[in-house]
Amino acid sequence: MSNNNAMFCVKDSLKGKSLTCNRNFCKGEIVLEFIGSFKSLNEADKKALQIDDNLMIESTQIFDNYINHSCTPNIRILIKNHFGVVRCYAEAISDIQAGEEIYFNYNTTEYDLMEQGVSFVCQCGSKNCCRVIKGYRYLSIIKKNEIAHLLIPYLAAKYDLEIGQSKNVSNSNILSYNY
Ligand SMILES: [Zn+2]
Repeated sequence: MSNNNAMFCVKDSLKGKSLTCNRNFCKGEIVLEFIGSFKSLNEADKKALQIDDNLMIESTQIFDNYINHSCTPNIRILIKNHFGVVRCYAEAISDIQAGEEIYFNYNTTEYDLMEQGVSFVCQCGSKNCCRVIKGYRYLSIIKKNEIAHLLIPYLAAKYDLEIGQSKNVSNSNILSYNY
C-alpha cells in the first residue's frame, strides 16, 4: 500500500464503493502494493486476493478492499518474488488519469469464485464483458486467450498447460517469479 494516502480516494455510489486515484499513473507504473496478511483459502476472508492455489492476501481495509472488477481493467496484479519474499502489486496497464476508477480483472487472479460463494454479475459495460464473473476456471479458451497476458503466475501456469505448452511451464514460472 502506498505511504501517500492522498493518492487515492474511496467513493460511494449506487453500485457500492470504488477506488479512484488522485494523480496520473503511466502505463507500467506500480499503483499500490498489497500488504495484507497471507492466509490459506479456507482461512482468508471472502474479499481476499488469490495469488496461488492455496494462498490469499487479505485486504488491509484501507484502499485495497475497494478495487472493483472490470473486464476491461486499467491495472493488473503483479506478483514478484524477492529472494523468497512474495510481494504483490497493482501495476497500471494503461495510462490512468487522476479521478479515474482503478479496476483489475478478477478472473486474472481468482480460480473459482463459485466455490468461494462470491461469483457476481458484472456491470462493467465493456463490449468484451464476461457477464457472470465466476473465476478463471469457468472461462472459455477464447476468454482465457484474451487475458493470458494479465494472468498471475499460478494461473499462467494452468493456462500454459491447457494450451499444450506443458514443457515450458517450469521455465515460465521461474521467469515470472524471480527478479
Ligand atoms: Zn464485465
